[in-house]
Amino acid sequence: MGWFKKNISQENGPDLPKLLKQASAIRDKHWGKQITYSRKVFVPLTNMCRDTCSYCTFVKHPDKPEAKILTPDEVLTTARNGEKYGCKEILFSLGEKPELKYKKAKQDLAKLGQSTMIGYLKEMCDLVLKETSLLPHINAGTLSEEEIDELKPVSASMGMMLETITKRLGEKGGPHYACPDKTPIQRLRTLHRAGKKNVPFTTGLLIGIGETLEERIEALEEINSIHKQYGHIQEVIVQNFTRKSDIKMANHPEPSLEDMLLTLSIARIILSPDISLQAPPNLSSRHIKYIQAGINDWGGISPLTIDFINPERAWPDISALAKSCGDIGYELKERLTVYPKFINQPCTYLNEAINERVKSFSMDNKCSSYKMDGVN
Ligand code: SF4
Repeated sequence: MGWFKKNISQENGPDLPKLLKQASAIRDKHWGKQITYSRKVFVPLTNMCRDTCSYCTFVKHPDKPEAKILTPDEVLTTARNGEKYGCKEILFSLGEKPELKYKKAKQDLAKLGQSTMIGYLKEMCDLVLKETSLLPHINAGTLSEEEIDELKPVSASMGMMLETITKRLGEKGGPHYACPDKTPIQRLRTLHRAGKKNVPFTTGLLIGIGETLEERIEALEEINSIHKQYGHIQEVIVQNFTRKSDIKMANHPEPSLEDMLLTLSIARIILSPDISLQAPPNLSSRHIKYIQAGINDWGGISPLTIDFINPERAWPDISALAKSCGDIGYELKERLTVYPKFINQPCTYLNEAINERVKSFSMDNKCSSYKMDGVN
């Protein structure tokens, strides 16, 4: 029997105060009184995508003038500016395989000397590693084993939101209709492949797009079981759907704060305690409440670039966030894109050069939370 049936009373529903208490105790025991974040720059390498999720404003159809692939100069300019602002992570985010669907994407890639977005992404990670001190984190959606092999030597970590395990959301009228990369089985396969290839990996749920609480719990159980098999899931994000005027789901209700707290606390209870639990601080003005539900991380926050996925939602000011955490007894600490437990196992999780780079951040005391975890 799954967690939902065992733990949620069919008559009275979930006992939120009890779940919050339990989740907070797990977080305090495993992660202490620190809430972390990664100081990053965001590079939207291409906003073209072969999928058309009903909640997405990031994607631009190739007919639109804004549809583009960033040039090496544009990537490097953002990376260098990020360095000036003290960023350590460069997050490459991109639409899924646009070259398989659109002539423009294929032609633009050819002008850049590449035939696939993954090949170009690898080249850009390489460039950033050669020219700057940043650590690439790759968010390129579903990946084959060969693609992971290509990208692993040039990145510190990778990620892909599972979002949901519910096939129903891919039916006609659903948010994932006609989105080949949002088929849950394809995303689960990517989580397994990343595990087999020992990639420190981030995943998570997007809540409020039409799934039930029971389906969210099934997705969390599936992530946890994959982590038990390989040990590579470094963090799980619970992200709330946010309404925007220019999306197909413009009239779809947003999940409430209580719904976020419920999902976060259940996630903290179900997931192995060594998986970091993250919620974005810019998608709710009441994000500080998430600490009550057992989160230990805010994810990437940029002092320079906007959240290109939710451009209307500004990042919180980092010192103001530190103060809000401090007011309730938690210390805000910077972390790197890859978590300490994956460091110093060079042949397993990180290639040697990336491992050395991560260690140099720790030794220079540029990222003090890593000192505490014995990186030397
Ligand atoms: S796969 Fe990602 S980029 Fe593509 S449409 Fe869906 S949410 Fe947008």
